Amino acid sequence: MAVPKERVPKARRDRRRAHLSLQAPALVTCPRCRHARRPHTLCQNCGHYNGREVIVTE
Ligand SMILES: [Zn+2]
Repeated sequence: MAVPKERVPKARRDRRRAHLSLQAPALVTCPRCRHARRPHTLCQNCGHYNGREVIVTE
């Protein structure tokens, strides 16, 4: 098994992990149905993208 040559100090370990936190996804409001959706994606509620119907929803 690989064994670390040197102990990683808490400061360096924490610096490495500084970018590992989870972030909430960016959300925008659908201009057609006001449902929250990710930017640049098809609206899962009304099936529209960029003003036209892409998938048919009930
Ligand atoms: Zn929509």
